[in-house]
Amino acid sequence: MKGIIDAHCDVLSKLMMNPALDFSLDDSGLDVTLPKLRQAGVAMQCFAVWIPEPVNDPGMKHLLTGVELFWDRIVGQAGMKAIRTAEDLSSGTDNGQQCALLTVEGADALNGSMDHLRTLFQLGVRCLGITWNYANWAADGVAEPRKGGLTLKGRQLVKECNNLGMIMDISHLAERSFWELDELSSRPYIASHSNVLELCGHPRNLNKRQIERISERGGVIGINFFPPFVSTETEATIDHVIRHIDTVCEWGGERSVALGSDFDGISKKVKGLEDPSGYARLGEALAKRFSNEQVERICVRNWYEFFVTQLPKSEC
Ligand SMILES: [Zn+2]
Repeated sequence: MKGIIDAHCDVLSKLMMNPALDFSLDDSGLDVTLPKLRQAGVAMQCFAVWIPEPVNDPGMKHLLTGVELFWDRIVGQAGMKAIRTAEDLSSGTDNGQQCALLTVEGADALNGSMDHLRTLFQLGVRCLGITWNYANWAADGVAEPRKGGLTLKGRQLVKECNNLGMIMDISHLAERSFWELDELSSRPYIASHSNVLELCGHPRNLNKRQIERISERGGVIGINFFPPFVSTETEATIDHVIRHIDTVCEWGGERSVALGSDFDGISKKVKGLEDPSGYARLGEALAKRFSNEQVERICVRNWYEFFVTQLPKSEC
């Protein structure tokens, strides 16, 4: 067992809004901190750069501030091991190091520039969410009323991500954009933090056909812990989270489901799963429903195998 892998948290957005927060300290006001990751046995955490809405100019300047925070505060000061290659991931987890993978949520700041995309890749970004909830130059997000697909530039973005080896993340993407990306992409893609629409009818969730398709393509879906995506009941519980895991397992197979907490990006919490310390409770609850091997797949191996296959083999 190499330790838990979580494909999405928003620590960097909180640091962008309040640089005084300290990721190295347990009581820093962050859901995800280095002490909590260590205590919970998290082997790799993905850190998304998402430009918070109050920032009026979502350009490269702000995106690069987030990238810099990752290198300074998560890798530099806190000492997590940055994962850029498959070799980084296998050696880091073998050595029991806490690993960190840099992602970007929403291609807005790239402003249609493939040079910017290549720059981000050079700076260590390995996974790109095409949109947030709104439309951008590349595609429509889930909240866009016109429910559009990819733009011409967005099609170019998919091709260039394929060429570079930038993993594409379809969480937040409008359904039509999703199917167009699926048709164009030669590589598997992921949903880093999305749940099952048929269990909880929030537009951010994925329907059965999407779940089956992501799995057929060799992608993985990280289950999100934000109560409005988990349950329509007043209080979302760990059992509700497990229903999503179970359903993705049933529709996509046991290799397609993993974790995508959304910690630090969510204002409400699932009871008992408020921060990484809740993984122990989630693990116990999973063990009642799944075999040890399946629990390990869900919490560890599915993301591990995906990333170790999809990341560049060595530094390019
Ligand atoms: Zn998100």
